[in-house]
Amino acid sequence: MAGLYLHIPFCKQACSYCDFYFVTQQDRIPAFVDGLIREIRQAGEIHQALVVQEKGHVHETKGQVHENGEIHQAQESLQTVRTIYLGGGTPSLLSIGQLEQIFRALDDTFDLQPEEVTIEMNPDDADLSRLRAWKELGINRVSMGIQSFDDGLLQAMHRAHTCQEALDALNLLEKSGFERFTADLIYGNPGQTIAMLDADLRQMLAFSPPHISAYALMVEQGTRLGKQVELGRVTVPDDEQVATHFRHVQERLGEAGYLQYEVSNFALPGCEALHNTNYWRHVDYLGFGPSAHSFLWPRGDGRALQSSDSLAQSTLAPPDRAKYDSHASNTSAVNSAAITDLATTAPNTPKQNVAIRWQNIRDLRAYLEAEKPADRIESQEWLGLPELAEERITLGLRMQEGVHGRQLKEQYGYTFGERQLDWISLQSSLGTFAWDPDKERLCLTQEGLSLADHLTAKLLSLH
Ligand code: SF4
Repeated sequence: MAGLYLHIPFCKQACSYCDFYFVTQQDRIPAFVDGLIREIRQAGEIHQALVVQEKGHVHETKGQVHENGEIHQAQESLQTVRTIYLGGGTPSLLSIGQLEQIFRALDDTFDLQPEEVTIEMNPDDADLSRLRAWKELGINRVSMGIQSFDDGLLQAMHRAHTCQEALDALNLLEKSGFERFTADLIYGNPGQTIAMLDADLRQMLAFSPPHISAYALMVEQGTRLGKQVELGRVTVPDDEQVATHFRHVQERLGEAGYLQYEVSNFALPGCEALHNTNYWRHVDYLGFGPSAHSFLWPRGDGRALQSSDSLAQSTLAPPDRAKYDSHASNTSAVNSAAITDLATTAPNTPKQNVAIRWQNIRDLRAYLEAEKPADRIESQEWLGLPELAEERITLGLRMQEGVHGRQLKEQYGYTFGERQLDWISLQSSLGTFAWDPDKERLCLTQEGLSLADHLTAKLLSLH
């Protein structure tokens, strides 16, 4: 088990653009902490069972490709945890005592050997004693949701903090001695000029964050921003303006020595985020809390789940949706017969159903009422090698490291066809792709990164 994600679904107020799952009733935090701990301990029981099924108690993690294209097949205990990420929502709303309880449950359940433990924090929660206590708990990285230093933009985003609070929080981070931290910025905001974006970047760089995530503002349906745009009350910048902002971010952060190791992520050398990088590399992770996702390669071929139907069902059966209809999100649940079917047919063909992804219910009440792990699952899907390969290429090409032909072939059974290779060669001459035939490494250039999703979709369509 490479990573654990804990979703803490509480916020002080709703940011205008946000479509993550959260609630604002903070009086429910104590009950949530109890529920989260229950979920963690139950997952531990299931994973213990999986470990017992595995002869020798080892799990072959999927290949990590090194620079030279070699595939390193690390042997790991199924329960060894390398990264922990507390996201949300706003995990900085939890008290130190509540975090202690959660970490105790994790420690009792998993073999914790984390290299990176990140907590998301909003600037208005910054406080020196809290930061120091986090360090004592083993948290070694803070992710600060700054978004902008412009008070007008912060208000338009309906953020709970001001520019001054953002500055104070970054100063406190420096004082607290956190060497690893990341700060988020949002560009492409309504009314935001390049000069305003530049001011945000300069202000951010004054603190030399080891890592910066810069995202284009997205208009999601059902959010306050989505409604404002729908009603014509707010006009968002067009694609060309957003692309200009993106190039400006790339240029400024590049000049300041940051490596754009993923489309939206920039790091000083050696400060890349391990947890998120593992998502993009298809490494196993478990998610806890309402709406959290999990992804597993069950023994690489699904046999671990097949070998115990009751385990498979207890792990994968969906919740009783009728019970929660009024709170259900739009995500469709698979019925239990289908789940049983999947669990028993999963490994029949080598290319099908080799990995599984599931999502917890996006509803705090239903989550807290769940008695069994299966009651918390809102939807799940088995993934076959062809779709995993396409996903891996899509995620890999968003990263500077790109994808390696040998890994695609050995891990996913995928090879680039002639039409794809011709197109890659054309794109290389146009400066969007870089293809190293010796290492069989394909990546996007800095220019190509701005069109990553479009170029990848075209590449995949030529298979
Ligand atoms: S604080 Fe984060 S999770 Fe909460 S509403 Fe704002 S963006 Fe969403």
